[in-house]
Amino acid sequence: MHRVSPSGSPTRTRREPQARNVVNPSSHPEYGAWLQAQLGCKVQKLSVNAGFSCPNRDGRIGTGGCTFCNNVTFHPAYCDPKFSVTQQLEAGKRFFARKYPTMKYLAYFQAYTNTYAPLRRLKALYEEALAVSDVVGLVVGTRPDCMPDDLLDYLSELNRHTFLIVEYGIESANEETLHRVHRGHTFAQSADAIRRTAARGIRTGGHIILGFPWETEEEMMRGADEVGHLPLTTLKLHQLQIIRDTPMAEEYMRHPWPMPTAEDYARLVLRYIAHLPPSLVLERFVSQSPPELVIAPHWGMKNHEFADMMRKISRDITCTA
Ligand code: SF4
Repeated sequence: MHRVSPSGSPTRTRREPQARNVVNPSSHPEYGAWLQAQLGCKVQKLSVNAGFSCPNRDGRIGTGGCTFCNNVTFHPAYCDPKFSVTQQLEAGKRFFARKYPTMKYLAYFQAYTNTYAPLRRLKALYEEALAVSDVVGLVVGTRPDCMPDDLLDYLSELNRHTFLIVEYGIESANEETLHRVHRGHTFAQSADAIRRTAARGIRTGGHIILGFPWETEEEMMRGADEVGHLPLTTLKLHQLQIIRDTPMAEEYMRHPWPMPTAEDYARLVLRYIAHLPPSLVLERFVSQSPPELVIAPHWGMKNHEFADMMRKISRDITCTA
């Protein structure tokens, strides 16, 4: 049983140390069911590309971006900044409404850094999305160094009358990793932004990449402990993918390193999530970038197939324990 406070932030109950060996993805709330419980209806996220840039690309912090990033992987076909936010959302709705006519939607400001603009422009874009019929809330993806206090004041007000998740790219709790991938911010900055956001009662999400080849398992689990102490409502985990046209792809082509199998990665995720509080809502375990853009690994698995694999491994471990 997972308790959720009125703000949507889970009431944190930390996992007892002796339960750390119990590995089961079902011991965390499932994202779709959690969203439905929060909103009282079935909801689908619709990605929006509002034409933002990113300070790690436009020169404010860096120019080359994070070494793993190729933003083309984020875009569904209907999501193109040459169309308005309303047009993108209406196109997304048409795509899903054929199959699910009663579905409601969350506008997911996903591509690049979706808080990287003057407050007046941000307000106009978010409020345009909320004015689209059947859009019942917002998910705003951003970097932890792009959340000034005046924007948090506004989001906190917005959060009083609409459903809102602010989702931060943490990527790793390991400072060396953040430096090596040219992330341009520290884990301390992630922790600070997450704490400031959650302190305003806003549901706060995080995104972590697992599998950087230089990170030891011990470092990853230490990272899980640190992430588990943050006041996060939701968390996405992704495998490290080598995506075409990125600096990491060049590194990999020069000196390829062994990639985990899907099963190895599933076991790693199970060990990782055993360090997280059971109230934390886990949204995803794997990323599904377009296969033509992925150099490695090629697992071809959807998130639900991967979750099934994790449950099976978990059952096998429990049965043989
Ligand atoms: S991952 Fe995000 S912060 Fe990094 S370069 Fe891509 S858009 Fe910018």
